[in-house]
Amino acid sequence: MEIHADLALVGHDGKKDELIAWVGERIELLRPLSLVATGTTGARIHAATGLKVTRLLSGPLGGDAQLGAMISEGRLRNLIFFIDPLSALPHDVDVKSLLRLAILYDVRLAVNRRSADAVLAAIAADGC
Ligand code: PGA
Repeated sequence: MEIHADLALVGHDGKKDELIAWVGERIELLRPLSLVATGTTGARIHAATGLKVTRLLSGPLGGDAQLGAMISEGRLRNLIFFIDPLSALPHDVDVKSLLRLAILYDVRLAVNRRSADAVLAAIAADGC
Protein backbone atom coordinates (compact mmCIF):
# COMPACT_ATOMS: atom_id res chain seq x y z
CA MET A 1 0.00 0.00 0.00
CA GLU A 2 1.30 3.47 -0.88
CA ILE A 3 1.35 5.63 2.21
CA HIS A 4 0.63 9.35 1.93
CA ALA A 5 0.89 11.51 5.05
CA ASP A 6 0.48 15.14 6.05
CA LEU A 7 3.37 14.96 8.50
CA ALA A 8 6.16 12.57 9.49
CA LEU A 9 7.53 12.38 13.02
CA VAL A 10 10.92 10.88 13.88
CA GLY A 11 12.88 11.09 17.10
CA HIS A 12 16.24 9.60 17.83
CA ASP A 13 16.47 7.65 21.08
CA GLY A 14 17.95 10.55 23.02
CA LYS A 15 15.20 12.82 21.74
CA LYS A 16 12.12 10.60 21.92
CA ASP A 17 10.95 11.86 25.30
CA GLU A 18 11.21 15.44 24.09
CA LEU A 19 9.32 14.68 20.88
CA ILE A 20 6.57 12.81 22.73
CA ALA A 21 6.17 15.69 25.17
CA TRP A 22 5.98 18.11 22.22
CA VAL A 23 3.32 15.94 20.55
CA GLY A 24 1.33 15.65 23.77
CA GLU A 25 1.19 19.42 24.17
CA ARG A 26 -0.07 19.89 20.59
CA ILE A 27 -2.36 16.92 20.34
CA GLU A 28 -5.43 18.84 19.17
CA LEU A 29 -3.49 20.40 16.30
CA LEU A 30 -2.03 17.04 15.33
CA ARG A 31 -5.19 14.95 15.62
CA PRO A 32 -6.72 16.01 12.26
CA LEU A 33 -3.49 15.27 10.37
CA SER A 34 -2.48 11.98 8.84
CA LEU A 35 0.72 11.07 10.65
CA VAL A 36 3.52 8.70 9.77
CA ALA A 37 6.53 7.80 11.90
CA THR A 38 9.46 5.48 12.08
CA GLY A 39 8.68 2.32 14.02
CA THR A 40 9.72 2.99 17.57
CA THR A 41 8.83 6.67 17.48
CA GLY A 42 5.36 5.82 16.17
CA ALA A 43 4.78 3.15 18.80
CA ARG A 44 5.83 5.47 21.60
CA ILE A 45 3.68 8.34 20.33
CA HIS A 46 0.64 6.10 20.02
CA ALA A 47 1.18 4.59 23.49
CA ALA A 48 1.62 8.00 25.09
CA THR A 49 -1.12 9.94 23.30
CA GLY A 50 -3.48 7.52 21.57
CA LEU A 51 -2.90 9.34 18.28
CA LYS A 52 -3.26 7.22 15.16
CA VAL A 53 0.16 6.99 13.53
CA THR A 54 1.13 4.91 10.53
CA ARG A 55 4.30 3.10 11.51
CA LEU A 56 7.11 2.42 9.10
CA LEU A 57 10.14 0.28 9.84
CA SER A 58 12.38 1.36 12.66
CA GLY A 59 14.74 4.10 11.46
CA PRO A 60 17.97 2.08 11.57
CA LEU A 61 16.24 -0.82 9.81
CA GLY A 62 15.05 1.20 6.83
CA GLY A 63 12.39 3.56 8.21
CA ASP A 64 14.41 6.66 7.35
CA ALA A 65 14.86 5.30 3.83
CA GLN A 66 11.11 4.70 3.56
CA LEU A 67 10.49 8.34 4.48
CA GLY A 68 13.03 9.36 1.86
CA ALA A 69 11.10 7.37 -0.74
CA MET A 70 7.85 9.03 0.31
CA ILE A 71 9.44 12.44 -0.13
CA SER A 72 10.96 11.54 -3.50
CA GLU A 73 7.59 10.31 -4.75
CA GLY A 74 5.66 13.36 -3.55
CA ARG A 75 3.85 11.54 -0.76
CA LEU A 76 5.23 13.57 2.15
CA ARG A 77 5.85 17.32 2.40
CA ASN A 78 6.34 17.94 6.12
CA LEU A 79 8.94 16.32 8.36
CA ILE A 80 9.66 16.79 12.05
CA PHE A 81 12.91 15.03 12.77
CA PHE A 82 14.31 15.38 16.29
CA ILE A 83 17.93 14.50 15.63
CA ASP A 84 20.13 13.80 18.64
CA PRO A 85 23.09 16.19 18.31
CA LEU A 86 25.02 14.49 21.11
CA SER A 87 25.16 10.87 19.95
CA ALA A 88 26.86 9.07 17.10
CA LEU A 89 24.35 6.94 15.22
CA PRO A 90 25.00 3.72 13.32
CA HIS A 91 22.55 4.80 10.64
CA ASP A 92 24.03 8.25 10.14
CA VAL A 93 24.14 7.62 6.41
CA ASP A 94 20.35 7.14 6.37
CA VAL A 95 19.85 10.29 8.41
CA LYS A 96 21.95 12.25 5.93
CA SER A 97 20.07 10.78 3.01
CA LEU A 98 16.71 11.72 4.50
CA LEU A 99 17.87 15.26 5.20
CA ARG A 100 19.32 15.56 1.70
CA LEU A 101 16.05 14.50 0.11
CA ALA A 102 14.06 16.81 2.38
CA ILE A 103 16.24 19.70 1.22
CA LEU A 104 16.14 18.64 -2.43
CA TYR A 105 12.36 18.36 -2.54
CA ASP A 106 11.73 21.51 -0.50
CA VAL A 107 10.03 19.64 2.32
CA ARG A 108 9.12 21.65 5.39
CA LEU A 109 11.68 20.39 7.88
CA ALA A 110 12.01 20.84 11.62
CA VAL A 111 14.74 19.48 13.84
CA ASN A 112 13.82 20.89 17.23
CA ARG A 113 10.82 22.14 19.20
CA ARG A 114 10.75 25.71 17.96
CA SER A 115 11.14 24.80 14.32
CA ALA A 116 8.53 22.05 14.80
CA ASP A 117 6.11 24.71 16.02
CA ALA A 118 6.83 26.70 12.87
CA VAL A 119 6.10 23.66 10.68
CA LEU A 120 2.87 22.96 12.51
CA ALA A 121 1.78 26.58 12.21
CA ALA A 122 2.52 26.52 8.49
CA ILE A 123 0.50 23.33 8.03
CA ALA A 124 -2.42 24.88 9.91
CA ALA A 125 -2.15 28.03 7.80
CA ASP A 126 -2.16 26.44 4.40
CA GLY A 127 -3.64 23.01 5.00
CA CYS A 128 -0.43 21.08 4.22
P1 PGA B 1 12.85 4.72 15.47
O1 PGA B 1 13.80 5.34 14.38
O2 PGA B 1 11.69 5.64 15.59
O3 PGA B 1 12.46 3.38 14.94
O4 PGA B 1 13.66 4.64 16.73
C1 PGA B 1 14.26 6.65 14.52
C2 PGA B 1 15.64 6.77 13.96
O5 PGA B 1 16.58 6.51 14.71
O6 PGA B 1 15.79 7.12 12.79
